Amino acid sequence: MLEELKQEVYEANLQLYSSGLVIFTWGNVSALSKNGLVVIKPSGIPYETMKPKDMVVVDLKGSVVEGELKPSSDLPTHIELYKACSSIKGICHTHSSYATSFAQAGISIEPLGTTHADYFYGGIPCTRELNDNEIYQNYESNTGKVIVETFKERNFNEIPACLVKNHGVFSWSLSAKQAVKNAVIVEEIAKMNFQTLALNANSTVLKHTVLDKHYQRKHGEKAYYGQRS
Ligand code: 13P
Repeated sequence: MLEELKQEVYEANLQLYSSGLVIFTWGNVSALSKNGLVVIKPSGIPYETMKPKDMVVVDLKGSVVEGELKPSSDLPTHIELYKACSSIKGICHTHSSYATSFAQAGISIEPLGTTHADYFYGGIPCTRELNDNEIYQNYESNTGKVIVETFKERNFNEIPACLVKNHGVFSWSLSAKQAVKNAVIVEEIAKMNFQTLALNANSTVLKHTVLDKHYQRKHGEKAYYGQRS
């Protein structure tokens, strides 16, 4: 069942590992199938020994439809995001160092330069802290819900990532592979921001006109970046 998507999710997980954004069994990647099933990495299995057949197929209620192994512990977070935005077809979670440092500090990653504006139409926000009830019960789905809450006034497509306070990064896109790419970009931007703020703590956010120009020339209705397809 969903053999092609399992292969895709497997490869995206391996890309995440080879990108250096995760170590050991940290992080996870999933994708949503056309018929509304989630294919996700199994929990706690080392990337080096993982096989495409180990990918777990679950429904949007979290029940396993196919697979021998337990799905990622973060599955309920992925499910909340798939349910919140219909254009999300792939999700990636990391504990990458620079971005997670911002998450631990509770600081959003603000657009300080055009590298950021090429991919994100505004700051990458950091969620609020979960309260004790939200931690005791349904912790992982509440993690998804707090991301959704953070995006109440934001657009999931224009800002395809979020920092979860004291935890790490969730990024998303139209595919698992693209979600991993967004996680790599978040880490690189976080590193640049960290260095920029270390050099000048008073560095200011990019002017809106530059943010607009760089984002729109790549993603806007009249985008002109790159080659004609
Ligand atoms: P899983 O191995 O269960 O996906 O957990 C990895 C992780 O990073 C938890 O936040």
